[in-house]
Amino acid sequence: MKNHQNSIRIFQEAKELMPGGVNSPARAFLAVGTDPVVIDHAAGPYLFDVDNNQYIDYVLSWGPMILGHCDPVVTRALHEAVNRGTSYGAPTNDENRLAQLVRTLVPSVEKIRLVNSGTEATMSAVRLARGFTGRDKIVKFVGNYHGHSDSLLVAAGSAAATFSVPDSPGVTQANAADTICAPYNDEAFMTRLFAQFGSQIAGVIVEPVAGNMGCVPGSLSFLTTLRQLTAEHNALLIFDEVMSGFRVAPGGAQQRLGIQPDLTTFGKIIGGGLPVGAYGGRLDLMNAIIPVGKVYQAGTLSGNPLATAAGIATLQQLLTAGQPFYDSLTEKVQRLTTGFQQAAQAARIPLKVQSAGGMFTPFFLNETDQEVTSWDSAARCNTQRFAAFFRILLENGIYPPCSQFECWFLSSLHSDELIEKTIDVAALAFKQIS
Ligand SMILES: *Cc1c(COP(=O)(O)O)cnc(C)c1O
Repeated sequence: MKNHQNSIRIFQEAKELMPGGVNSPARAFLAVGTDPVVIDHAAGPYLFDVDNNQYIDYVLSWGPMILGHCDPVVTRALHEAVNRGTSYGAPTNDENRLAQLVRTLVPSVEKIRLVNSGTEATMSAVRLARGFTGRDKIVKFVGNYHGHSDSLLVAAGSAAATFSVPDSPGVTQANAADTICAPYNDEAFMTRLFAQFGSQIAGVIVEPVAGNMGCVPGSLSFLTTLRQLTAEHNALLIFDEVMSGFRVAPGGAQQRLGIQPDLTTFGKIIGGGLPVGAYGGRLDLMNAIIPVGKVYQAGTLSGNPLATAAGIATLQQLLTAGQPFYDSLTEKVQRLTTGFQQAAQAARIPLKVQSAGGMFTPFFLNETDQEVTSWDSAARCNTQRFAAFFRILLENGIYPPCSQFECWFLSSLHSDELIEKTIDVAALAFKQIS
């Protein structure tokens, strides 16, 4: 057994100081029946905890560290930036450079506004959609996550699926009432919804590759239908690419699909491990934002010099490396997928690994499902089995996401050797839990 003495002591203290001992709930390991390990430092594809245990990191800060931890170019850019002052609250040339990089990589983005998190990006995009169209209703999909702003923290009501309810105490009924929750990958539902409410809908926000119920790619026909319906009814299509952006292709999911949304939201990789988010899109929409237009949105630390330096250093490398970088990530994910599937089959465990580019999820299916296409099918997975799997991996030096309903992420530093090692540990785990 690994020694976790320091982790246990520090987490015990953390629980006195912060709710649940954490500053974000996904870190609390609540779904896997163990306490979190406390991290001391990271390097390349590895995490090291405070008891000096080493782990191959498949969380990568929930996506951002696509170049691995402590990438030398990013680290150098940060050192240079910090010597020039950490915040001015005034324009800088680096903001232009980051904006240019995003425009080059994601051509549907004609103008962009930098913010500090994915939550801020989606919240602002929703406000812009409402402000621009003069309509109140937003459509979101069950199992998609867009951060924790009130309008987006809603769940489908029980009876008629078009009535939403707050998904947290503190979110008002009034907030929930203006958000419609729809089933993911169900174009027939959307066609009926628009026939009934089309003139009231400001926009549809969607993860084109869903990553927050585990990896569930949106089907091309579903997303094409969303594009057509929103265009027909003068509603806006918002792709939330906070996770899929710069992760599944240089230009995100929209490049893979060949679909142009009206607005796109970014986070995670765009900040290279520092707090950055952004929303951008059509020129006429972005010009509706203050100080050109009337839709309000601001940020004291937005475009922060350290954050933009890390973002530029990351996106510049991704732009230079181009499609071959993503082909290589995808190939590694395929290798893991095949390895996991074969090992699970040998242990007679129903498993489906779903992926898109550099992200994937092994779903522990129940006996009746073949794949996961929506929250309904995700929710039927065997979470107990996942938890047992997780604990064995952690004990054997692999750090997977601590829930069945999260994506695993790969960096360019995950070598073939590390992938083989991961498959070996997974095979051992499948045997033990079968
Ligand atoms: C992570 C995530 C968010 C929220 O971003 P934060 O930076 O955590 O606020 C929003 N949308 C998607 C798709 C995400 O994956």
